Amino acid sequence: MHIKTILNRVQKFKSFVHGSVRWVDKDSEPTIEVELRPRSNGRAICSGCRRQRPGYDSLPVRHFEFIPMWGIKVFFVYAPRRVSCSDCGIRVEWMPWAEGKHQLTESYAWYLACWGKRLSWSEVAAAFRTTWDHVFCSVEMAVTWGREQQDLSGIEAIGVDEIAWQRGHKYLTLVYQIDQGCRRLLWIGLDRKAKTLLRFFRWLGKGRTGELRFICSDMWKPYLKVIAKKAGHAIHVLDRFHIMAQMSKAIDKVRAEETRKLKQEGYEPVLSNTRWLLLKRPENLTVKQEPKLAELLRYNLKTVRSYLLKEEFQQFWFYRSPFWAGEFLDKWCTKTMRSKIEPMKKMARQLRRHRPLLLNWFRAKGQFSSGIVEGFNNKAKLTTRKSYGFRTYRAAEIALYHALGALPVPKTAHEFF
Ligand SMILES: [Zn+2]
Repeated sequence: MHIKTILNRVQKFKSFVHGSVRWVDKDSEPTIEVELRPRSNGRAICSGCRRQRPGYDSLPVRHFEFIPMWGIKVFFVYAPRRVSCSDCGIRVEWMPWAEGKHQLTESYAWYLACWGKRLSWSEVAAAFRTTWDHVFCSVEMAVTWGREQQDLSGIEAIGVDEIAWQRGHKYLTLVYQIDQGCRRLLWIGLDRKAKTLLRFFRWLGKGRTGELRFICSDMWKPYLKVIAKKAGHAIHVLDRFHIMAQMSKAIDKVRAEETRKLKQEGYEPVLSNTRWLLLKRPENLTVKQEPKLAELLRYNLKTVRSYLLKEEFQQFWFYRSPFWAGEFLDKWCTKTMRSKIEPMKKMARQLRRHRPLLLNWFRAKGQFSSGIVEGFNNKAKLTTRKSYGFRTYRAAEIALYHALGALPVPKTAHEFF
């Protein structure tokens, strides 16, 4: 069987034919070159307007990398024609296998992009003996295409989230769609300022913003401000995941301070290595951790009291009626304000201030998948942490959209994957 026979089966282009196929030893690496030729009666198509136009001249031969076969690199070799277009002027012809100035064929780019969802980009580059840049360009192409094609109708519930990015205090704002039937990353912005989220609403547009019914977020002030201003009609919910995460941070603070103080005063270091005990939910503790927690709880430490306050607060989320949840919240806040534990008091003050938004949790219950933001948050962190080798915001953005955007892909992308 000839390679041409295989190619005619898997990658045939109307108005072009496969010419000769030959071995070339390039840089000590054997490659296969497949010549492409226009059909004898085929007229060139203008890349500007996609219409048939009279030919003008031919450019030098170009190489387009195709999917490797048995580990051997495969290139299409073609001398692009130029057309004289009455609308666009002198233009290079449209080639169905490649986009613009790209060196990779579209099939190969989709192929790499699909692998880029399963492996880190450097792993893909190594596996197919190509460069990190080629993998990046392929994923970028897939993301650009997908974002142009995606359907943005029917978005009713969104979650606004932030993740720390790179070292230091740099943040990304992420907006997810969290409707029961459709969950995906919708938008990413650098930073977590009011300006950042305003950009999201500009991107979403007035019409679609008007259709939003639920928005959940944490208590970050700039977000609260922008959401109130831009989508005051939607029910704004402070969700469980963000509140409990913040409470864990408060406990962390109490613990760190207390550990330092105990050490200074020469006490036994009862609090060392207890961080995870105190942050985990009791039902998630291991057999070894359980007695350790029980022992720890015997000490009347600020850390322990904070922990108990946090555990008590978990009940809040299980109320059905916003009224009784509100009563519970008020009692909890009063109790916490008397605790003399500053980080917890700060938490209580914040919860009090945002009482209506917290109670919205009960008004919105069951209307969207609230746990989903937490899931996305974990995945997003994992994606940015994975050694994709991105130092730039652009690469992080592309990687996140690729992993979490649930973007559409063309049917042809699956031909080789
Ligand atoms: Zn044209």
